[in-house]
Amino acid sequence: MSAKIPYKTYLPESRMPKAWLNLKAFMPEDHAPFLNAATGKPCSAAELEGVFCGECVRQELNSTDKEIEIPEGIRSFYANFRPSPLVRAYFLERELDTPAEIYYKFEGNNTSGSHKLNSAIAQAYYAKEQGLKCLTTETGAGQWGTALAMACAFYGLDLKVFMVKTSYEQKPYRREVMRTYGASVTPSPSDTTNAGRQLLSRFPGTGGSLGCAIAEAVEEATRTPGCRYVLGSVLDHVLLHQTVIGLESKAVLDMYGVMPDTVIGCMGGGSNFGGLIAPYMAEKLQGANNIDFIGVEPASCPSMSRGRYAYDFCDSAKITPLAKMYTLGCGFMPSPDHAGGLRYHGMSPVVSKLYHDGYMRVEAVKQTEVFAAAERFARCEGILPAPESAHAIKVAVDEALKCRESGRKKVILFGLTGTGYFDMAAYKCFNDGTLKDYIPDEADLARGFSFLPSVKEQ
Ligand SMILES: *Cc1c(COP(=O)(O)O)cnc(C)c1O
Repeated sequence: MSAKIPYKTYLPESRMPKAWLNLKAFMPEDHAPFLNAATGKPCSAAELEGVFCGECVRQELNSTDKEIEIPEGIRSFYANFRPSPLVRAYFLERELDTPAEIYYKFEGNNTSGSHKLNSAIAQAYYAKEQGLKCLTTETGAGQWGTALAMACAFYGLDLKVFMVKTSYEQKPYRREVMRTYGASVTPSPSDTTNAGRQLLSRFPGTGGSLGCAIAEAVEEATRTPGCRYVLGSVLDHVLLHQTVIGLESKAVLDMYGVMPDTVIGCMGGGSNFGGLIAPYMAEKLQGANNIDFIGVEPASCPSMSRGRYAYDFCDSAKITPLAKMYTLGCGFMPSPDHAGGLRYHGMSPVVSKLYHDGYMRVEAVKQTEVFAAAERFARCEGILPAPESAHAIKVAVDEALKCRESGRKKVILFGLTGTGYFDMAAYKCFNDGTLKDYIPDEADLARGFSFLPSVKEQ
């Protein structure tokens, strides 16, 4: 019956989501609140509004409304690149000779090349509505910076991007795309902020990290009038915006009577995964399904599978509030891994809580296996995947091969978050056979954990 679904399906305009899904309103228990590191007390909205846009703070703290309306101004921009296609991976199924049905939601069909535009456009819209003039942010692999540069260009806001130095050097064209959209781009750590200067003196010659770039961007935003900081993942309101991915996917699959057994996504800060699973997870939390949710992270930066569930700073300079999340410690310096967008020490508090409470599983995979899966996928499905997205491909392929072994027919849905055109240096290493698997040892992890702040939990 479901075999009749076309290769690609787009949700009809009349069924496009008009509201995001607030997963927190379905969770039996809210995750622990952000804490002010100085006082140890939960952060007030006013404190958060010094750093973030007002509407984003309201969304961040909202754990009661099940749906939050997507303003018309955002929906009209979404129409520029949404719906994104839901693809039945007929060619991959044939390649794997599996009885499994495999579907993926492809978020790479916009100039930023990833799902990040879903939240960038929302955050820029709210900044504009609030009368702000400028935004700052960090970017690792460059996708978030690009998405936000597009959004700021559209709404006429200035944007200053702190880009992790290794990516700044490895991906000069990504930097040029951001500048083309009008953003200014600074390699991080830089000597333009206190946080950057401190990091440089502690780790001379460091290639930087997302945590450090965040610290610089927050410092710049808080000292500049009319300016706020925006984050591309981790926070609850970003995850909220990413629920369009899951809402569109579920609406299309429902039209064809398809119900997934397994839903898989890669996890950097957890927003795309949280957004993809949201409508299905909301049902699971109400006892309406028993879907196997699998979050995939790199073995080089195993925040969930080997991290601690603890209060930690979101940045390495320890200037952000404390979040209760799975973390490797805010000073954890991940080894050079090519999936730049997944090299973050922490994880979304929502996803962390779901994992802690046993509603999902996590797998950590090695980058050589990830690139092998990426190429296998590219050769049959045609799309050149981002290395981050290929983490989900790797586990989807593994699950489909298990179906071949057992003869069990399963329905697998995974998130294909973006394209890999700016990652060809990484593909080159893989093709040349020089790509390495770095896996932190216990001493590396212990060093990271030594940065965890001691917090008395109420
Ligand atoms: C940023 C990024 C990710 C990680 O997304 P999170 O929502 O932070 O987990 C995955 N894939 C691509 C292509 C990205 O750009």
